[in-house]
Amino acid sequence: MTLSVAPERAALETPVPQIIGGEEAIGAATFPAIDPSTGRVWAEVTAGTPADVERAVSAAAKAFPAWRATSLDERQRLLWAVAERLGSGAEEWPVLLATENGRPIREAGLIDVPTAAEIFRFFSGVVRDLHGQTVPCGPGAHVVTSPQPLGVVAALVPWNSPLISVAHKLAPALAAGNTVVVKPSELASVSTVEFVRILQDVFPPGVVNVVTGDGPDVGRALVSHPGVAKVSFTGGTETGRSILRDVAGRLAPTLMELGGKGSMIVCADADLDTVTEDVLTGIFAANGEVCFASSRLLVHESRYESLLERVCERADRITVGDALDPSTQVGPLVSRAHRDRVAARVAAAVEAGATLRAGGVEPDLPEHLREGSYLRPTVLASPGGTTSASCEEFFGPVLTVESWADEDEVVDRVNGVAYGLANGVCSADLARAFQIADRLESGMVWINTWFATPLGQPQGGVKASGFGREGAAATVLEYTTTKVVHTSLDPTRPPMWT
Ligand code: NAD
Repeated sequence: MTLSVAPERAALETPVPQIIGGEEAIGAATFPAIDPSTGRVWAEVTAGTPADVERAVSAAAKAFPAWRATSLDERQRLLWAVAERLGSGAEEWPVLLATENGRPIREAGLIDVPTAAEIFRFFSGVVRDLHGQTVPCGPGAHVVTSPQPLGVVAALVPWNSPLISVAHKLAPALAAGNTVVVKPSELASVSTVEFVRILQDVFPPGVVNVVTGDGPDVGRALVSHPGVAKVSFTGGTETGRSILRDVAGRLAPTLMELGGKGSMIVCADADLDTVTEDVLTGIFAANGEVCFASSRLLVHESRYESLLERVCERADRITVGDALDPSTQVGPLVSRAHRDRVAARVAAAVEAGATLRAGGVEPDLPEHLREGSYLRPTVLASPGGTTSASCEEFFGPVLTVESWADEDEVVDRVNGVAYGLANGVCSADLARAFQIADRLESGMVWINTWFATPLGQPQGGVKASGFGREGAAATVLEYTTTKVVHTSLDPTRPPMWT
């Protein structure tokens, strides 16, 4: 890709292609990629069709037999090479990511690119330990299991952290010996196509393909394709439900990383200095457009007002602006439509009784950013936790603060939401924090921290947040099935037929 920078903004001169069977394919129709900082069109992306999906699945199916036969040391070497390639584009990637979805450039450089590289390094280690088991069935039999790749994996990812999301799917799926067709979000396709493009120098043609286009058309055609052996999806809960209906007929297995509503429970003995930092990171990093965001803060009544005041005072000082400006702490939301949806949810919560304590408005920005999709970091006080803000996923920089007095009641309140992705407890009493954590219906619980997701630690949810785990050694098994081979060592048979 040639990023022409004009003056320091990315712009692409030619349409972004799909990549199918190692070839770049520019389609007849395109759709615009819009820079949410300015509202300007900065690239045109190929609008794929079901026929492109057909070609991509067949290219991946053709590449599968040779790829599954590669040795584990070869796969290790190639996965490591991907991490190296990412490192060599260290300056270009943050510009691309910040232009694409409004992620502040300081975070794109500090978090997105190194994390994606680290995911490939992690699975390049994991792949060397891919093995089956011997099952002790007595002296008359030799029984072994082996993990088998599934075939063609469809990997569908959202717009909020495209590079990390696609790395979380590609690295374990490839490590297990599968080939992949990726479908990025129509709101953030360019970085994924660019990533798959550089992978063509690493993997044989057809091992990794990418199709672009909208969800209902291209995404649906992909998940419904009979040649797709597994669907690995990260995105909204409603889309996940629709995909499950589409794959039900052919019983294709799925991995579902869906929405979340992260609650942080703050006990009376918590250290408010640390909590304040964790709250700000948990809800305002990545513009709050994170499934793991700590969007709901439940504070013991004895600390409620003081923590609320601290958080609001800090939220009011956050620098909001152009995602490409290194001093920006919160950038624009991904689109004006999404910004308007988030703002409407804030208004509905206020209407239902929540009090706006910070933000809730567009920032005052220079002329060239007026068409961007900005919202100031917003804090809603809803002490009783009775408004929609306590259970809905906003997916933006909006925090709801509630008060509690009784431990059983606050646990019920957290467990009362449909989602079960990431929750947290802050307390100086670790035994107590652990007891609360144990009772939370949640795939992940953080104690005295937020967002800690080192590789090796499984990531994923329960309830409406989905199923399946990413980021752990066992994730590679999500992309395999177990085959058993039972060899008889005993020629004698019981006399059943005499
Ligand atoms: P989305 O569900 O609208 O889209 C995700 C992907 O699915 C996109 O590629 C889209 O084109 C495709 N798609 C849409 N409709 C489809 C259909 N009917 N069939 C097949 N594919 C279809 O989600 P989004 O708005 O891009 O992302 C935001 C959501 O993602 C939030 O709910 C967020 O919580 C969730 N998310 C979850 C995790 C996690 O790890 N649990 C991580 C990031 C984001």
